[in-house]
Amino acid sequence: MALYGVPVGGGIAIGRAHLLQQSMDDVPHYAIDDADLSAEIERFEEAIKATRRQLEQLRMSIPENAPTELGAFISLHLMLLTDVTISREPVDIIKAQKVNAEWALRRQTDKLTEQFDTIEDTYLRERKHDMLQVVERVFKNLRGQETELAVNLELFDDTILIAADLAPADTVHFKDNRIAAFVTDYGGPTSHTAILGRSLDIPSVISLHHARALIQEDEWVIVDGIDGVLIVQPDERTLEEYRERAREYKSHKRRLNKLKNTAATTEDGINIEILANIETVEDMTAVNKNTADGVGLFRSEFIFMNRDTLPDEDEQYQLYSRIIKKAAGKPVTIRTMDLGADKNPRWFGQPDALNPALGLTGIRLCLAEPVMFRTQMRAILRAGVHGEVRMMWPMIASLSELRQCHAHLQTAKEQLLERNHHFAENIKVGIMIEIPAAAMMVGTLLKYVDFISVGTNDLIQYTLAVDRGSEAVSYLYQPTHPAVLKLLAHVFRTAQRMNKPVSVCGEMAGDAALTRLLLGMGLRRFSMHPASILGVKDVILHSSIEHLEAHTARLLRNDDPARAEELLEKINHPETIKAA
Ligand code: PEP
Ligand code: MG
Repeated sequence: MALYGVPVGGGIAIGRAHLLQQSMDDVPHYAIDDADLSAEIERFEEAIKATRRQLEQLRMSIPENAPTELGAFISLHLMLLTDVTISREPVDIIKAQKVNAEWALRRQTDKLTEQFDTIEDTYLRERKHDMLQVVERVFKNLRGQETELAVNLELFDDTILIAADLAPADTVHFKDNRIAAFVTDYGGPTSHTAILGRSLDIPSVISLHHARALIQEDEWVIVDGIDGVLIVQPDERTLEEYRERAREYKSHKRRLNKLKNTAATTEDGINIEILANIETVEDMTAVNKNTADGVGLFRSEFIFMNRDTLPDEDEQYQLYSRIIKKAAGKPVTIRTMDLGADKNPRWFGQPDALNPALGLTGIRLCLAEPVMFRTQMRAILRAGVHGEVRMMWPMIASLSELRQCHAHLQTAKEQLLERNHHFAENIKVGIMIEIPAAAMMVGTLLKYVDFISVGTNDLIQYTLAVDRGSEAVSYLYQPTHPAVLKLLAHVFRTAQRMNKPVSVCGEMAGDAALTRLLLGMGLRRFSMHPASILGVKDVILHSSIEHLEAHTARLLRNDDPARAEELLEKINHPETIKAA
């Protein structure tokens, strides 16, 4: 039997299933007498307190080699725990309905689940699982059950955990206790379980829906974290096939790890710059581990999220300075906040917007809030004295927006001069090319900037009119669509002609299946998630641009999306290219 879910990565594991029970599964329900109500409320409050103590303890004892996101995720869980909806409203239910604490918490959880399910924003909807993970821990405390995964659990090298869901706090134990893999019934691609799974590099598949119901304790299972498949009770032939794939995956990983200090130079001697995309200061650890040539995109908007107030100039200055210092002389490109659409801070939303991605987002929001924009600019300019810093403006669609950005930059510099601050007077400025209008008139825009970076995630969305976050139309989201490639080719050629640096920082840059195509189209700077660096470098080392160009030109002349895939296959097959 095979079950299909969302692949999280980590390769392939073969082992024995260990089913994790959920405390929330069968909840006791009984009436509480008036005389016992206050004791019942106290029991609930004690469980909340115990949960808080445990989470605080776990946050303090995170192993050094654990994923950098772990602390932040546990902090988020602590925040959820103290929210009135979890810590207070169940008390009201106990009082009003005279029921036991577990039942009150169950009722409240059902209500919260319903509310989460109606949220349109996928990222926020996914936080339902965070809420459920916190509640699960409170349940365990109420029922006097063991809360820590590693205790009472014999974990072996071939243990495969089958869980309804796993909280970040559960994964704290994964570094000290070896497990072969984990799978969960819940969670989506942006769930914290998925993010941690990726960083932990343990084979994992999430969102399997019914794995716990269909698998028996101790059964043999195969977890394929590459394709998102879970195979239960495999036959000997399947086992042999997967053993071979696991061996291949491991040796591939070992080979990639050796490339850390190798320069990304093609077979015909052309040096390629490999930069990293980051979202937090902590990401710099992965950047340095994978030896990137610098930061090509710091998505600064994440520092404006998950808080009620705006970070002031000094707070931003400190944070940018930390990143720049960690980059140790390598360039850091800070993109000014790109909020709105799919990244909304608490203080901002577009409730009446029919198409938020076409609304007040990115640079439009910055230009509408000039004080906020200039505060960020001043912080970047000041941090710029600590290293090589570049400022990049997102979502530019016209020359007039670009001119307004320059005017604000000028004002920000004058303000710093008045205040006697040191700052990077000659900071290089660039723009993201992610709206088709900008791609088409890139020649004009380039006259006013030092560099450009192509945001293919949005460029594809806006060119093909396909929501980048919608599962329903994901089959139409095609990076190799002829229209997208023609726009990219125009941008690369124009930048080359005008002798201005151009990079790609959208997901296309980190997709090893597209590396040769982009090289053949003339791209020499790639910016990607740190985890993609070695895979892309490997392809670069085995590519000869001279051989690629003719095949790429053929692909660019093609107008048939189906044929595009075929031609790409040829580009990715070096034997075919060399023989041609
Ligand atoms: C892009 O649009 O390709 C990009 C890199 O920006 P973001 O994904 O943050 O919108
Ligand atoms: Mg974008």
